[in-house]
Amino acid sequence: TTHLVWLRNDLRITDNRALHAACSDPAARVLAVFIATPQQWRRHEMAPRQAALLHASLRAVQQALAQKGVALHCHSCADFAASIDWLAEYCRREQVDALFYNRQYELNERRRDAQLEQRLSGRVMCQSFDDSLLLPPGSVQTGGGEMYKVYTPFRNAFIQRLAEFDVSCLPAPKIRAGGALPVPEAPAAFDYPAADIGDDYPAGEEAALQRLRAFSRERVQDYLRQRDLPAIAGTSGLSPYLAIGVLSPRQCFNRLRAEHPSVLEAPESGAFGWLNELIWREFYRHLLVAYPALCKHRPFIAWTDKVRWRNDPSLLQAWQRGETGYPIVDAAMRQLNETGWMHNRLRMISASFLVKDLLIDWRAGERYFMSQLLDGDLAANNGGWQWAASTGTDAAPYFRIFNPTTQGERFDPQGTFIRKWLPELADVPDNDIHHPHRWAEKQRRTLNYPLPVVDHRQARLETLAAFEAAKRGG
Ligand code: FAD
Repeated sequence: TTHLVWLRNDLRITDNRALHAACSDPAARVLAVFIATPQQWRRHEMAPRQAALLHASLRAVQQALAQKGVALHCHSCADFAASIDWLAEYCRREQVDALFYNRQYELNERRRDAQLEQRLSGRVMCQSFDDSLLLPPGSVQTGGGEMYKVYTPFRNAFIQRLAEFDVSCLPAPKIRAGGALPVPEAPAAFDYPAADIGDDYPAGEEAALQRLRAFSRERVQDYLRQRDLPAIAGTSGLSPYLAIGVLSPRQCFNRLRAEHPSVLEAPESGAFGWLNELIWREFYRHLLVAYPALCKHRPFIAWTDKVRWRNDPSLLQAWQRGETGYPIVDAAMRQLNETGWMHNRLRMISASFLVKDLLIDWRAGERYFMSQLLDGDLAANNGGWQWAASTGTDAAPYFRIFNPTTQGERFDPQGTFIRKWLPELADVPDNDIHHPHRWAEKQRRTLNYPLPVVDHRQARLETLAAFEAAKRGG
């Protein structure tokens, strides 16, 4: 028999449920494919940096599979529709008996998989797995059998359910009977804009596991104290790996539990605090399945669609470039533009600024983040934006509006982070770093840094009025 594993956002060989199942019969011939879909990626605004990380990770997984005697064939199609045609033909040509893949939860991906299964039905047995989550969507529900709309009760129920599911990690497959294969040629470059991802994210699951081990052993204890300070590497930095499945959430959870066995009983601990973030990741994915409209960028709270956004293109551009005159926002946006990653506290501040200070539709920000992020993930990005824009479930209420200056003072008190990304403010003393123009005026100096593009106090009032009008019915 011939088994085919279709790799998608699960670019690793350890703890990969589809791969493990495909390899469980030692007598089977096992093939693997990956299909790049550049046109589809463009439609989904995938960042060129993420495509570059995907390519490097694909190369690593191809080599790891070759050592196990499994050849990974990389193919490129325009989009999902073309990938179905190609895969159906490939299965015919290779006489595939069974197809194995790990589920993706976004709407277009689910439709593609359903169409493919229909196309193959009667000829190829299809087996799919919940692999990118600790608990499958739909498994954590209210007493009334619904998805939780509020996070904390979801988390409490989630932790209870965790004991009922097997969340252990699976080993990498054994070497096939034919032995290892020669080192394969690297997959062809994707037909996608090139991008440099620097050295921060070395490809391959070993690098990801090493970072996970070091974080769980040495830094997670301080997570609650440090996680909100962007000048410190207080978070794991694992999101780019989790987003494309170089690492699984089970690997994260089990490593955490190995270092901190009582994590579930210690809600005040850093370890629990970190687990909490992994559960936020689950929450947003479960929501995506329960409310597929989220994939179509509909707000969770319907009346918020009536907000009259100002949508000023020059303000949008100032935000995108990190030229708003608000140092913490600008430093954040430059970190994003230069590295493809942004600290969580800064994602909250800069998203709030776009929506509530510039009164720009959150979807413009969601798209821009996606087009830049190395860890771009529809569920988390949409969840984060709808939270910040007060359009989501369990979101910040619309009248809670971050003050970007006081946020900066609180979370980057000495301006260490700001100075790193805004060298033009290097000379401004700590006390004035969040009001650089006030200082420059006193010193009679000119700064090569923009004046604030809006007055926060005024902008706040306008936003409150816009939301209140929408709530009254537009
Ligand atoms: P850690 O603090 O070490 O957390 C561990 C892991 O938990 C992360 O790698 C991530 O997978 C998950 N996680 C942490 N916080 C969240 C959260 N709030 N929601 C969902 N999952 C979380 N995260 C993405 O992975 N992709 C995105 O596209 C994305 N877009 C965001 C947009 C906005 C506006 C906001 C406010 C948040 C967004 N996040 C996104 C969530 C969060 O900012 C990042 O996951 C986090 O900054 C990644 O850094 P880390 O790996 O060091 O996180």
